[in-house]
Amino acid sequence: MENSGYTKAHRAYELSVIAVAVGLAGVFAYRASHAAWGSLSASGLVVVALGLPGGALAADVVSGFIHWLFDTFGSEDTPVLGGLAIRTFREHHRLPKKMLEHDFIETNGHNIGLTIPLWLGGIWCLAGEGLRLAAGPFFVAWAILIAITSQIHKWAHMDVAPPFVQTLQRWGIILSPANHARHHVAPYTSHYCITTGWANLLWYGSERSRPVPVESGSTSEDAASRPAE
Ligand SMILES: [Zn+2]
Ligand SMILES: [Zn+2]
Repeated sequence: MENSGYTKAHRAYELSVIAVAVGLAGVFAYRASHAAWGSLSASGLVVVALGLPGGALAADVVSGFIHWLFDTFGSEDTPVLGGLAIRTFREHHRLPKKMLEHDFIETNGHNIGLTIPLWLGGIWCLAGEGLRLAAGPFFVAWAILIAITSQIHKWAHMDVAPPFVQTLQRWGIILSPANHARHHVAPYTSHYCITTGWANLLWYGSERSRPVPVESGSTSEDAASRPAE
């Protein structure tokens, strides 16, 4: 989340995985438009209907688990992962708004790459029928939400997010600034989920249930430290 360590090679890696993921998303869309949705039974239609919120919840839980791992274990000096991942999470606690300087590729490239196996899973589902076919929307929702997790996190830190984003935040479809603000209070041990924030509410209760504690001497630059609602 900070520019240190962001090399041209890493940029090339991000552009490469974005190209692969977008290609697979195109294959998924093509196969979905030709799939025999009309053949699904009632139970299959229920799986389709639950797949979209289910995939979004899966993305949120995964985002929280990964975030918890990197906030909890290791340090910035840990071999490989320290420089590659842990540092960005720890730096984000110190400089929450630094991520706002990153462009679309730097913000989302790595996460988009992580969706490649999910698109493959979705394509595999669409090659089948019955419940296997019905599981396709689960994978597409999971993939899309993982792809834009860092973008959603970034929006939660903006002083003024785009109007459509504010609507999605207000409706609770994506992580709201108020929900995420709970995480940006030392010792940073709650509200790890940064996609929809639904799992935070399941784990820790309503974002309105308690005031945001004010950490002394820190994060005055942090938009997420103020509830937006
Ligand atoms: Zn954190
Ligand atoms: Zn944050």
